[in-house]
Amino acid sequence: MALSAQQELERQYVMETYGRLPVQFVRGAGIQLFDVDGNQYLDFIAGIGSVSVGHCHPKVSEAIREQSEKLVQVSNFYYVEGRGELAEELSGLLNYGFDAAPDGVAQREVWKTFFANSGTEALECAIKLARRYGAQTLDGAGTIVCAKSSFHGRSFGALSATGQPSKQDVFAPLLPGFIHVELNDSAALQAALDVETEAGKVVAVLLEPIQGEGGVWPCSPEYLQAARALTAERGMLLMLDEVQTGFCRTGEVFAFQGYGVIPDVVCMAKGMASGMPIGAVAACGVAATSLQPGDHGSTFGGNPLALAAARATIQVLREMDAAKRAAYVGAYLQERLAELPGIVQLRGQGLMLAAQLEQPLAREVVMAALARGQKSGFGLVLNATSSDTLRFLPPLCCSTEDVATMMIGFGAVIQTL
Ligand SMILES: *Cc1c(COP(=O)(O)O)cnc(C)c1O
Repeated sequence: MALSAQQELERQYVMETYGRLPVQFVRGAGIQLFDVDGNQYLDFIAGIGSVSVGHCHPKVSEAIREQSEKLVQVSNFYYVEGRGELAEELSGLLNYGFDAAPDGVAQREVWKTFFANSGTEALECAIKLARRYGAQTLDGAGTIVCAKSSFHGRSFGALSATGQPSKQDVFAPLLPGFIHVELNDSAALQAALDVETEAGKVVAVLLEPIQGEGGVWPCSPEYLQAARALTAERGMLLMLDEVQTGFCRTGEVFAFQGYGVIPDVVCMAKGMASGMPIGAVAACGVAATSLQPGDHGSTFGGNPLALAAARATIQVLREMDAAKRAAYVGAYLQERLAELPGIVQLRGQGLMLAAQLEQPLAREVVMAALARGQKSGFGLVLNATSSDTLRFLPPLCCSTEDVATMMIGFGAVIQTL
């Protein structure tokens, strides 16, 4: 169906919750996308960083195809192949990244996982886990300290944790028991730990190691280390939202591994199954057993199809040494972006980068880069997090040659604007 016809059909029958860009994709391979007219694009947003090993990676597609012919879903009342295996693998990745455990040591910590279908659902589970932990071990404490301009999802729990009034205000009243502090201000964080709300005292601090939707704002190492020390001293949980940063995106398997901290709870989703919907919460220590039978559940969470896609994705990430690769290619992308005029700041790590523009033209850049596809048959898929900030989240198969090719088109767009 032609783009214009598709647009008209959606206008009539699909709720308008997104401002969609005028392109209809029909096929993807690696870092490339193809639209309905056969034009080709280099994809520098990859879902939202979710298509981690590239579009339709043969090993992931094969795992999905094979599993879809074997067993797609039974409820969570039964054992299936793959759930325990994936949870064990996550426990190892959270402890050691891609490195093997030292000889004779099976596990540093045992991480236990709950499987959900999305990042938002992972956050919902983490919030419930924190409340249960507070009830069991911290005298009923239930307040969670979050950061301003954070993003944790759109359901009421996750939205209440989110630090963006523009996304929240029209849905008030939100869930009580969330306070928001300035990112990278350790004194403000420490002060917030003494605050009491109608949900009681503080039970947990919830942070993205690098804020994604907010425009790629990293926690400073001192800040995340302070958050760890302050919560540990008080028996509170440090919960990290690695939904966007996880699975090698930032040059580490999980971003916290570059900060020298070990959190109690980690939320993950986006890059976990290279585009298949899945989310997870992993917890270690006392937090790993806070949720009791009957406390939480999901019809589809951890179904065999999503598990198979996740396991194949992790295998491919391991084979391509994706964390090191993201660090290396990301450094090259930063270097090349730094050569361009009109960029006042580069932020981020690995293949999670943002370029802040001198002028509020980010949306115009995105449109012009896309339009090159229709005009010349070769376009760029870019992303703006605000009027002056472009975000780069290419698939982790992105090579330095892909970056160089992208920069030709991007440079031309920047010049004309
Ligand atoms: C995208 C995102 C979420 C929400 O994930 P969904 O899969 O869209 O529900 C939560 N936290 C962070 C940090 C995210 O980037």
